[in-house]
Amino acid sequence: MTRIVLLNANLFDSSSATLKPGATIVIENGMVDAVSFERPEIGDAQIFDVGGRVVLPGLIDAHVHVSASVSDFFKLSLMPQSLIAAKSKDILEQMLMRGFTTVRDAGGADAGIANAIELGHFVGPRLFIAGRAITQTGGHGDPRPAFFSGERCACCGAVGMLGHVADGVSEVRRAVREEIRNGATHIKVMAGGGISTPNDPLDGTQYSVEEMKAIVEEATAARTYVMAHAYSPTAIQRAVRCGVRSIEHGNLIDMATARFMAEHGTYLVPTLSTYAAIAREGRRIGWSDAMLAKTDRVKNMGVEAMKLAHAVGVKIGLGSDLLGEMQAFQHEELTLREAAMKPAEILRSATWINAEMMNQSGHIGVIAKGAHADLIVVEGNPLDGLAVLSDDRNLLAIMKAGKFYSNRLAHGPC
Ligand code: ZN
Ligand code: ZN
Repeated sequence: MTRIVLLNANLFDSSSATLKPGATIVIENGMVDAVSFERPEIGDAQIFDVGGRVVLPGLIDAHVHVSASVSDFFKLSLMPQSLIAAKSKDILEQMLMRGFTTVRDAGGADAGIANAIELGHFVGPRLFIAGRAITQTGGHGDPRPAFFSGERCACCGAVGMLGHVADGVSEVRRAVREEIRNGATHIKVMAGGGISTPNDPLDGTQYSVEEMKAIVEEATAARTYVMAHAYSPTAIQRAVRCGVRSIEHGNLIDMATARFMAEHGTYLVPTLSTYAAIAREGRRIGWSDAMLAKTDRVKNMGVEAMKLAHAVGVKIGLGSDLLGEMQAFQHEELTLREAAMKPAEILRSATWINAEMMNQSGHIGVIAKGAHADLIVVEGNPLDGLAVLSDDRNLLAIMKAGKFYSNRLAHGPC
């Protein structure tokens, strides 16, 4: 494979969240071969002059649902798998073209979709998958509407089915083992109520401690980890006590719970953009009053939760959790966070912290020797405001695994 060299880069060092000007980045075989601040021996290579522009590690979105082409989970469960996969293809490609070179699916995508990217059938980010989210009967991942009395059936393995319903210790163990057998890279558990399901209270808890401990134990046995959907302090504390690695959403967190998370080293993945998008679009796309009331309740608390957690030292990851056509608002996850954190810290969440949370430190979320060559070149300084990333004209180049998916850089001196 060709050697590619990027000259004169203002490199975002994701470990320190600072810019380091004058970098030369050497890429070979899809990996970063060298980063140098002196002019290195370049040899035979394709050379591009970045012209002092900011180069970021490819962004990571740690909470997506690439198979959720509609926001109604029940409708999704009735969609043919082939159509879901076809729609996922577009969603994935658009994510990559927004500069997200890695995404962590929080329920729905299967190993076939991940393979389709790896084999080059789909253009998309690196995809880490949970398979189906483990959920109790009537839990946040149970897609059956309230009036639907049908039993769950053997066909519930469909790719669009976000949830894997399991009750009791032995069933949840089997569910986790099943997801891992099917290629899950991590496990998702629904540990409390949610907004997109109308019948489970937001501050309710889901799963017994015994069940959740068993879920974590099975994930650990398979050398992976658990991400838990939870809003309320009680649901969060139970999940943390059971050993989950990341709390997803966490909008209703209080000071004691934030401190508890910091003590345990549990990550928080706020998902501000999804509430903002639902508040704007929810009525139009047919969300019920009950669901919109839940959205209202958590929307404004999201920023406060992030401030609180950040202040006591909880590691903050970045995830968007957008559904259906609202997936287009993925960049808002960056800009909305400016109400709670500095742009450089937000970029660190989207790179360094997300990589660490996903056990991928050194491989992604960083531009350093030995990392995958995933990066974006930006016009304008995102450390002065992340809105520059929302305009795709400012994304001058997007590279994943050493391959340009867009490139408007000038050829450098040869
Ligand atoms: Zn959730
Ligand atoms: Zn989600």
